[in-house]
Amino acid sequence: QWGALQDRLCKTIGENNYKTWIKPLSYDGITDGVAVFEVPTNFMGTYVSQNYGDLLLSQLTSVETDIRRIQFKVANADRPRGQAPAKAKPAAGVSDLLPSAPLESKFTFDTFVVGKPNELAHAAARRVAEGGPVSFNPLFLYGGVGLGKTHLMHAISWELRHRNPELNVLYLSAEQFMYRFVQALRERRMMDFKELFRSVDVLMVDDVQFIAGKDSTQEEFFHTFNALVDQNKQIIISGDRAPDEIKDMENRIRSRLQSGLVVDLHPTDYELRLGILQTKVEAQKALYPDLDIDTGVLEFLAHRISTNVRVLEGALTRLFAFASLIGKRITMDLTQDCLADVLRASERKISIDEIQRRVAEHYNIRLSDMIGPKRVRNYARPRQVAMFLCKQMTSRSLPEIGRRFGGRDHTTVMHGVKRIEELKIQDGQIAEDLELLRRSLEA
Ligand code: ADP
Ligand code: MG
Repeated sequence: QWGALQDRLCKTIGENNYKTWIKPLSYDGITDGVAVFEVPTNFMGTYVSQNYGDLLLSQLTSVETDIRRIQFKVANADRPRGQAPAKAKPAAGVSDLLPSAPLESKFTFDTFVVGKPNELAHAAARRVAEGGPVSFNPLFLYGGVGLGKTHLMHAISWELRHRNPELNVLYLSAEQFMYRFVQALRERRMMDFKELFRSVDVLMVDDVQFIAGKDSTQEEFFHTFNALVDQNKQIIISGDRAPDEIKDMENRIRSRLQSGLVVDLHPTDYELRLGILQTKVEAQKALYPDLDIDTGVLEFLAHRISTNVRVLEGALTRLFAFASLIGKRITMDLTQDCLADVLRASERKISIDEIQRRVAEHYNIRLSDMIGPKRVRNYARPRQVAMFLCKQMTSRSLPEIGRRFGGRDHTTVMHGVKRIEELKIQDGQIAEDLELLRRSLEA
């Protein structure tokens, strides 16, 4: 199994990364839902877990659904590699039904960099963390991957515990909620489960979209939620989108989620990314005292790397680790070399909207006319040009492009694309238009 996965991982992350980071791992098997890997050094364990942990976990769970997390152990010198470790003794008793999921020590308010895109979410999180009378209940935080939802939730939890160590704060992901619910069902311990959840002072559930479509888990979540709200207990929820956009979520749960304060984390902008990089560089310098990095390189990264902060952070970690391993200074060349795959992946994507807008501008017609039903040449030709560019410059399918052009059929799009391919050869003006448009879109 691990053998087959290794091949897939190698394809995903590229041969060099694979050889450096994944190949030296030795798989020790699964103990109580924890997949254990032996690593040669502590440093490597940390690095692999930070950079490839999620990937490894998702690959492993695709073949072995029981795995909840991954553990890296430094190889023991007096035991041959690859030999199974002594089985951890199974946990027993009610308490294993769940304390809070572990909190990341780095995810505090101190380490959270505030900028325009996240200032509202940050302010709301702060307010809730200050405790006092329940202000926003529930607080619903949402935003795309890697924008700081989990960070803010852990920060709230740390702060609440710091202010009042007695407070019973329970933080877990929606996935863990489900896992524990199913476990309680299986072990016929629903009473324990209900009691436990209803006795917390603050409940935080991360990535709630996970339980969408999982009916009995949703149902139980709804009851837990109501019981806590009735007792005036604070609830904090995060999701990857707004409550009313979560598919397969029961309406009554959706409206419950919306009943407090809903705030979103917007995609990061350049300034925020630069600010975050500057903060994270300090941590890297502490790890590698001999290494330094120019502001120029940081600016380059802030410009070029997508909105996802996790990717940004991973890039920085990788850069320092790489420079340290090969004993070189961090230069622009080294950066481009070491991060080629990340930089390629976050190249700017061109959208259908953008193409439509530019083409309409170029031909000096209204966007609505270009997308609308009119068939006269003045509109039809630019429409075909836009369809052609959408096909060429985006990865959208013909039916999808058709939908975005006023709900046209995919055969209409295909016809349009073919027509422009012909005209490109026959008609110098069209060829020139296409060239101009393409260049302006790629700029
Ligand atoms: P999400 O839960 O929204 O997917 P996370 O909270 O896990 O994202 O954040 C991903 C990574 O980015 C974490 O390491 C986190 O510390 C970091 N991060 C995100 N936003 C910020 C920020 N504003 N300041 C500092 N670090 C951030
Ligand atoms: Mg998260």
